[in-house]
Amino acid sequence: MANREHLLKGYMDHVEALSPGETEFHQAVAHVAGDVITIEKANSEFANARVLDRLALPDRVIGFRVVWQNDAGEVEVNRGWRVQYSNAIGPYKGGLRFHPTVNPSILKFLGFEQVFKNALTGLPLGGGKGGADFNPTGRSDAEIMRFCQAFMRELAHHIGPDRDVPAGDINVGTREIGWLFAAYKAQDGEFTGALTGKGQSFGGSAMRTEATGYGLVYFVEAMLAEQGQEIGGKRIAISGKGNVATHAAEKAVALGGKVMTLSDTSGSLVAEDGLTADTIDWVRQRKQEGRDIADPPKGCGARFVEGRAPWDHEADIALPCATQNEVDEEMAKRIVDNGAKILAEGANMPLTAVAREVIENADLHHAPGKASNAGGVAVSGLEMSQNSHRRFSTAAEVNGELKQIMRGIHDRVAAEGRQSGRIDYARAANIAGFRKVAQAIAAMGAI
Ligand code: GLU
Repeated sequence: MANREHLLKGYMDHVEALSPGETEFHQAVAHVAGDVITIEKANSEFANARVLDRLALPDRVIGFRVVWQNDAGEVEVNRGWRVQYSNAIGPYKGGLRFHPTVNPSILKFLGFEQVFKNALTGLPLGGGKGGADFNPTGRSDAEIMRFCQAFMRELAHHIGPDRDVPAGDINVGTREIGWLFAAYKAQDGEFTGALTGKGQSFGGSAMRTEATGYGLVYFVEAMLAEQGQEIGGKRIAISGKGNVATHAAEKAVALGGKVMTLSDTSGSLVAEDGLTADTIDWVRQRKQEGRDIADPPKGCGARFVEGRAPWDHEADIALPCATQNEVDEEMAKRIVDNGAKILAEGANMPLTAVAREVIENADLHHAPGKASNAGGVAVSGLEMSQNSHRRFSTAAEVNGELKQIMRGIHDRVAAEGRQSGRIDYARAANIAGFRKVAQAIAAMGAI
């Protein structure tokens, strides 16, 4: 143990010197390295290939200026990036996020996580992430479209169906992917699967929109099955009101679960008897309109609690589905005190480092996003193969494949993690993802 601490400190000092001030990136690297550093040390192939030293840096970070015109005819300037983290096992793959918090540290952490997440899906996908510090809230549709076109003018030079295949992430959905795809096609001149999450009328996969949220619930079902339980009747607290949160809620309700909460930054919607499918639809509508959720429809059985995160209520399962570091130490304690036996991440790295310690020391199973939210990128992988084959799979086919993939991720992680009768999902996911990527890196020599 002391040896592990020593190795980790040396490695993290090195990572921090390479990327000063990039705290989210350091946090993500420390989580993975803490679990795999002794594995690298013990495996001469991995150690000789210096896998962790290589993964301390992305293959490249492409940064660019995005110049566009707002509705008033004024010129605006934003920053855009694409982090191509690793293509050791397949083309770079990962979403685009438009949010004022986007910066190189956030995108490097997301790209780093994506490398291992994509490896866990069992599909041949490398890892990357991109986005811009553009805030679409309060912008007109025409402004968002012009922004997407300007963003793609630069990004188009760096992507392609066998090179780098972006998709959506926070604030980038099917509509934005449509605008981005058209701009790519206009510039490149070819109709290729260089983006996923496309509309179904132009090469998109059925179920891509639902995939992350549905996949999260399928993963939870697999965790419950491992304990001889089912989702029916379970009380589920969910944070967020975006694509992942609302689709997880929808699937959980369809399977008989009781969804107690959804939330946004202004507060939480709470329903003691569970949110109905109609209320979940209303939340989705509100998000699409860029509005808050403070005035739920009369008689829907839900009330709005201002300024509170959704963890104040008893729940068997907690699904943080909003954003990174949304759950702090105090919230983590509330999740545990309110009886959660499973915490599965719909967002990427939703727990602060201290919250993660609270969760790890409690008596509950913790599924990390790189395993439990991999359904989105997995269906993106299916979209890539549909595009290469020039074919379209039905929603039922894709849903069946998604279930199988989530079950496969669960079983691979569980096989790695079965130790003294209790599966440490977070640790096992890091080890299983790392092993796959490290094997590929080591097999390809020093290049
Ligand atoms: N943004 C999603 C994620 O965090 C999906 C990325 C993709 O489909 O490429 O995994």
